[in-house]
This record gives sequence, structure tokens and C-alpha cells, in this order.
Amino acid sequence: MTAEQLLYSKSAAARLLGVDPEEILDLQVWGTGIWVNIEGQRPRILSKRAFKQHFVEWRRAAARSLLVTTQIFNPHTYTVRNETKASYYRVQLLPGQVNCTCGDFANQQQVFKYACCKHLYATLQFCGYGSLMAYLSRQVAA
Ligand SMILES: [Zn+2]
Repeated sequence: MTAEQLLYSKSAAARLLGVDPEEILDLQVWGTGIWVNIEGQRPRILSKRAFKQHFVEWRRAAARSLLVTTQIFNPHTYTVRNETKASYYRVQLLPGQVNCTCGDFANQQQVFKYACCKHLYATLQFCGYGSLMAYLSRQVAA
């Protein structure tokens, strides 16, 4: 997994263009933007900025439907549930470090300096932090 594969995915392109992911035939990362070939349409070029914004906004939006609970016997540890998918992940907010057990977090951790999945966004929100940077900088200042 590379940063480009994570950021410029067919599913992200489909969401940005409002089409079905199967209608994205091909996607290429060019210097100037992302070239997207859509079934039955003329190819489109989307900006890298649009994908980067979407990467964060989509996860923040998805975080709103998640249910966060404190694990009372595990300090700094939270359970984040997706009621519709009946799935749950464990999130930890440790001093200067955060963790989630989901695949998205693991993928991001491989390629980005700071990983932040929807479970982490939900937990940060639950604990009163506006962003991951707000949490991490608070830890440094404390
Ligand atoms: Zn996660």
C-alpha cells in the first residue's frame, strides 16, 4: 500500500464524481491531477486537493454515525461501534500516540506520519478534541 493508492482510490473517485465504483474503468496519477476514465463518459481530471479533502471529510462524516464507549477497566481505551454493520474496533488515546485496530488505520500508518481513521475521529470528538493535531499538541503541552 502506498500513500497514492490510499488517497487516489477508485472508490474515492466514484464518491467525488457521484458514480458507481464499477463505472470507474481506470485511474491514473498525473503530475497535475488524477485522470479518471468513467464508463460511458469522457475522461475527467480531478485535483489532488479534492481527493485529499475528501479523504478527511469522508472519514469525519462517517465518524458521526459511530457509537463510542469508554472501556472502564482499560485506561485510555474506547470501543467504537458501527451499529449498522455490527462491527467494533478498539481505539486508544495514549500520551503522544493513538491507535485503532481497524485496517484503514493500519494502512494509513504504513504511509503517513499521522494516521486517522473514522473510529479515531469519533473518539477524538467524544473526548472533546477537534482534531488529531489538537489532541497530540495538547499532550506535548501537558
Ligand atoms: Zn479505525
